Amino acid sequence: MRLVFACFYGILFASLIGTTQTSADPDLGPQVTEIRIWEHPSYTRLVLELTAEVKPRILLISNPYRIVLDLPRTEFLVSMAQQEQVGVVKSFRFGLFKPEVSRLVIDLARPAVVARNFILMPSDQKPYRLVLDFRPVSNEEFTVAAVKTRVTEPSTDKGIENSPLHHEENVNEKFTIVVDAGHGGVDPGAIGRNGFYEKTVALAAAKELKKALEKFGSYRVVLTRDTDIYLPLKQRVAIARQVAGDLFVSIHADSIKNQDIRGGHVYTLSEKASDKAAQALAEKENQSDVIAGFDLEEHPADVSSILVSLAQRETNNSSAKAANSIVDEWKTRGLTLLRKPHRQAGFAVLKAPDIPSVLVELGFLSNKEEAYMLSNASTRLPLIEALAQSLHNYIQTAETPQK
Ligand SMILES: [Zn+2]
Repeated sequence: MRLVFACFYGILFASLIGTTQTSADPDLGPQVTEIRIWEHPSYTRLVLELTAEVKPRILLISNPYRIVLDLPRTEFLVSMAQQEQVGVVKSFRFGLFKPEVSRLVIDLARPAVVARNFILMPSDQKPYRLVLDFRPVSNEEFTVAAVKTRVTEPSTDKGIENSPLHHEENVNEKFTIVVDAGHGGVDPGAIGRNGFYEKTVALAAAKELKKALEKFGSYRVVLTRDTDIYLPLKQRVAIARQVAGDLFVSIHADSIKNQDIRGGHVYTLSEKASDKAAQALAEKENQSDVIAGFDLEEHPADVSSILVSLAQRETNNSSAKAANSIVDEWKTRGLTLLRKPHRQAGFAVLKAPDIPSVLVELGFLSNKEEAYMLSNASTRLPLIEALAQSLHNYIQTAETPQK
């Protein structure tokens, strides 16, 4: 990956060129081959170089200030790593938001609107270029413009109907384990020291865990996602309930400032965090919808009831047992664990009131050795096998393993 910052005529210029793929393939639909950002005195210009013409749907979202571009399914051949602020653009992310929608989320350093947006046709060996100019505005102006983008654009944003489980039967005799690969699509999760994304590690590990669990022959294993796509946190919980899950396991890989810290660890739900690090992690994980540009104002949260919290208490006991089973098995096998490997915090994805739920952090992508270990199927295998065995142990000893 190449990152260039240079001054041209007093204009800051940033260029990002990806490493994931080297050449454009016309069969894959539109591809973004480069993203460039300039700072002008009165606006910030962002240019997407493309292999085809696209028309974006533009959304403005506040808390925090973001500009969201929805495009038809588009391949991004650039990297999300190593970003620096240019003008009003603090950072950006991209990826699949829904099966046929790719999303580019632009985090703003201050409120700004899209003053101009146009496409330039290929010329002088230059490809299609989608040009967007962001003009800084006041908070009030941003709010008004944000409401307008919601009103003028048709909202077909229901999300749930696109889940891979749409045709799945609800009724099933087998004990159902829902394996949830954290993050995905426009939400990369942590970015590892080797440039690897948490979403990629989580998806690979989730698929491997499904396979390992199926070897026991007695479980039905359902993945919340089996491709690189974003899923709202609430939808992950909804899927688990929709398939009548008996156990929910969310797979992640952590990242932290101190690059020496390493080891697997497991979280269960608690409104009161067990420690500051757990609290910070839950806050970070709960940002997934914000990171993906999911407009929470369009999808108000459910009002939780006392009944839900009662059911939750019972479920929490089972969740804790599952978490302890994982920690025990990892210890038995001599795998690296974080100090205090079972912690609690208020993770949104663990809030199914009737399904025991755990969030597994396989290790730290911020640690060099673990980033490497987690990025390879062969070195991941001992962890996956231990995890499968520990869940099997938990299910065998659980008081009411059958529905
Ligand atoms: Zn995560």
